[in-house]
Amino acid sequence: MDQLDHDIVQDLLPLYHDGVCSDKSRAAVEEHLQTCEDCRAALAAMDAPLPEAERAAADDAAAVQKISEEWKKTKWRARLKGAAIAAAVCAVLVFGIWVLTSEPIIPMDSQDYTVDVYRLENGGIGVDWAFREGREVWYSISWKIEEDGYHYYLERPLIRVELFNFDNKNYNRGGSAMFESWSDAAMETGAIYFGLGEDSILLWKEGEEVDLPAATAAQEEAWAPAE
Ligand SMILES: [Zn+2]
Repeated sequence: MDQLDHDIVQDLLPLYHDGVCSDKSRAAVEEHLQTCEDCRAALAAMDAPLPEAERAAADDAAAVQKISEEWKKTKWRARLKGAAIAAAVCAVLVFGIWVLTSEPIIPMDSQDYTVDVYRLENGGIGVDWAFREGREVWYSISWKIEEDGYHYYLERPLIRVELFNFDNKNYNRGGSAMFESWSDAAMETGAIYFGLGEDSILLWKEGEEVDLPAATAAQEEAWAPAE
């Protein structure tokens, strides 16, 4: 047996085994295999199952690989879950702030503002309100019919949070109204009030003279028609 051939074939065996050597090399390897038991044994060993220790190591590697992939998947799932929860919390917060600052609206009472009611020379009634310090808020005027009559009242959002700086006269200062010509709806109720419940101030009652202080010069001036 040619030792040089044997060494070369030993080197070529893995390529031969995998079917990636040239035709010429393959022919040489096959010719050598006819005469060399060692090389036949080496080739056979390449197809044999892995020894126990090697197989266990391979299994461990596969297990580690699997765990790593699982972990990566879990990590992504956790991230997605986290993002979904964060988005949900944001949505709830935005919705909550919107609800509390825009709806619901509740009536304001004497803790929120002071009110001054007076009789004008023309027979009309002036109503001026000013918000107490720290109670300034966006508000609107509303009305409802109760058993005793027609009530005008101020209302504000449930929570005193200012998200926007409303640049209009209904914000932050107070306001006033002059009741000169009563609406039909108000007339039918027989009485008109400013405010609700115990804070109500009677402005007008059918067939009754409502005793109101006379307007000051400044109040008359405020309602005087523009010239
Ligand atoms: Zn050989």
